[in-house]
Amino acid sequence: EYKDMSKERMMEIRRQNCNPMTMKVTYYKKPVYIHQGHMQWLWDVDGRRYLDLFAGVATVSVGHCHPKVTAAAEKQLRKLWHTTNIYVYSPLHEYTEKLAATLPDPLKVIYLTNSGSEANDLAMLMARLHTGNFDVITLRGSYHGGSPHTMGLTSNAAYKYPVASGLGCHNTMCPDVFAGPWGGSNCRDSPIQTIRDCSCPQGSCTANDKYIGQLNEVFATSVPSRIAAFFAEPIMGVGGAVQYPKNFLKDTYKLVRERGGVCIADEVQTGFGRTGSHFWGFQGHDVIPDMVTMAKGIANGFPMGAVVTTPEVAASFAKGVHFNTFGGNPVACAIASSVLDTMEEDGTQQISHNVGTYLLTELAKMRDKYEIIGDVRGKGLQIGVEMVKDKASRKPLPPAAMSEIFEDTKDMGVLIGKGGVYGQTFRIKPPMCITKNDADFFLAVFNQALHNYMEDHH
Ligand code: PMP
Repeated sequence: EYKDMSKERMMEIRRQNCNPMTMKVTYYKKPVYIHQGHMQWLWDVDGRRYLDLFAGVATVSVGHCHPKVTAAAEKQLRKLWHTTNIYVYSPLHEYTEKLAATLPDPLKVIYLTNSGSEANDLAMLMARLHTGNFDVITLRGSYHGGSPHTMGLTSNAAYKYPVASGLGCHNTMCPDVFAGPWGGSNCRDSPIQTIRDCSCPQGSCTANDKYIGQLNEVFATSVPSRIAAFFAEPIMGVGGAVQYPKNFLKDTYKLVRERGGVCIADEVQTGFGRTGSHFWGFQGHDVIPDMVTMAKGIANGFPMGAVVTTPEVAASFAKGVHFNTFGGNPVACAIASSVLDTMEEDGTQQISHNVGTYLLTELAKMRDKYEIIGDVRGKGLQIGVEMVKDKASRKPLPPAAMSEIFEDTKDMGVLIGKGGVYGQTFRIKPPMCITKNDADFFLAVFNQALHNYMEDHH
C-alpha cells in the first residue's frame, strides 16, 4: 500500500532540494497536496476531493488516469519501452498515421518530441532552415516555452531571464479587443466564437485593421524584408484566453507569407478538440498553417510533443540529421494513440463544445452581475474570465484580490488557473470529460467566492 509523505516533510524537501521557484508557484497560501486523480477529480492526501478545472494547464485531456489510457500504457510497458527510432516498431507508425489523419493536407509529416518547448524549438529551427530567413514574430503576452530559444518567442516578463535568448524574435501587439487600445463592447458581445466576431455594423469595426497596422509597423521597423516565421496560438493560453478579432490570423498569415515566412499554429493548449467546434484551434480561423506544434493534451499528461508540417518543409530539414532519443518512444506513442481513440469513443470534442458553451453562457450572465468581471471569453473548454477593478477602467484586479477569490474557490472544492500578463484572468480548461453537473457546481462555487469577496470589500 502506497503511503504519502507527510506534508511537512514534502515542504522541507521542496525548500531544500527542489527548484526554489516551485515554492513561489505553489499557487495557494494553503497548498494542495495531491494524492490521486480519476477523470475530472483530484483527491488530496487528506481524502478531500476537488473538481479539477485546470487539468495541469489543459494537459489532462481525456481524464486523470483514464482507465483506457492507463490500460494501453500498462500493456506497452510490458512489451517494449524503448529502442532508438532507427529501428522500426509498430506503435510509432500506428500513432503517426492516426495523428496525420486528424490534420488537413498538406500537414502530414510528423516529428515527435517530449514537450511543447522542444516542439516550438524544432519548429523555429525548421522554419529558419526552410525559408533561409531568421526573424520570427510572436504576439505580445504569449507563451511558447521556457527553453533559451523559445523564451524569445514567449512575451511575458515573468518567464524572461536576462540572457541572450531569442535572437531574431520580435513581438507585435496582441490584438486584445478587451484590454487593448482597440475593440470595445461590441467586439465582446459573442463570447462563444473562436474569434471575436463582433456585432459592430458591417464595415464599421476597425479593431482588426488597427492591430494589423501594428504588425505592419513591426515589418517596417524591426525585421528585414523577409522573415522566417510567425507563431501564434489560436486562442491564447497562459496569456489569458485572449481571442483575436475576426480575420486577424487570416490577414496575418497572408502578410507573413508575402514576406517569405511560414505560419506556425501553437496548438499546445487549443488542440485535440479543446475548442469544441473543431479538433484544431486554427480551423476556427479558416487558415491552414505550415506547421502545427502540440504537446500537453496529446498524451493526457504523459510527456510528449510534436511538430507536424508539410513534405516541403520536411525536405528542407532533411539536409541534416535530427535525432531525439525519447521522441516517439513506444510507450508515449501507445499512450497518445489510445488518447486519440478515447477522444473518439468518449466524444470529448462534443463535450468540450456542449459543456464549454454552457459555461461561457452562464459566466457571461455573471459578468453582467458582477462589477469585477470584465470579460468572459473563449471557446469550448478553453475559457478565460478577466477580472477588473471596475468595468469602466478595465484595469486588472490586483493580485491580492485575485488570490482571495482563487483560494476561496479552491477551499470550496474547485481548482481553476490564473493567467494573463498581470495574472488578472481566471482560466478554465478542465479534462474534457466534465459534465453539466460539474459546470453547475463550479458556477455555484465561483458565484459564492465572488459574493464573499464583494461582501468583504465593497
Ligand atoms: N506553448 C504553449 C501554448 C504552452 O502553453 C506551453 C506550456 N505552458 C508551451 C508551449 C511549452 O510547453 P512545455 O511546458 O511542455 O515545454
